[in-house]
Amino acid sequence: MNKDIPLLVSLQDIDNLLEDASDQGDAHELKSLGFVLGSLEELKAARVRVRATIDQALLRAYDRLASVYRRRAVVPIVHGTCSGCFGTLPTARLQEAKTGDKVLCCENCGRILFWM
Ligand SMILES: [Zn+2]
Repeated sequence: MNKDIPLLVSLQDIDNLLEDASDQGDAHELKSLGFVLGSLEELKAARVRVRATIDQALLRAYDRLASVYRRRAVVPIVHGTCSGCFGTLPTARLQEAKTGDKVLCCENCGRILFWM
């Protein structure tokens, strides 16, 4: 797996938390379910730190995909399919995802893929 993929997943989680924290209705519901949302300032600082460590070209791709797919720009491969669009991935691509260092994108939807 490319070293930046776990950072992208963390960035996506932070972006999703920021969106939840800024939506008062969602924030209240999450708190009532026992989730602890960090302060917006802490989340924003964490976002800046994570973004600073990710390859710039990959970050631009993430930003573009996040604007299209909102909360699901980086998705896992599940049972040989992209979990974003559920398109089946060619066997050779699955092998690349398992063993390679290259960042893989879904040929169908373009989302960034990672192997779990
Ligand atoms: Zn896809």
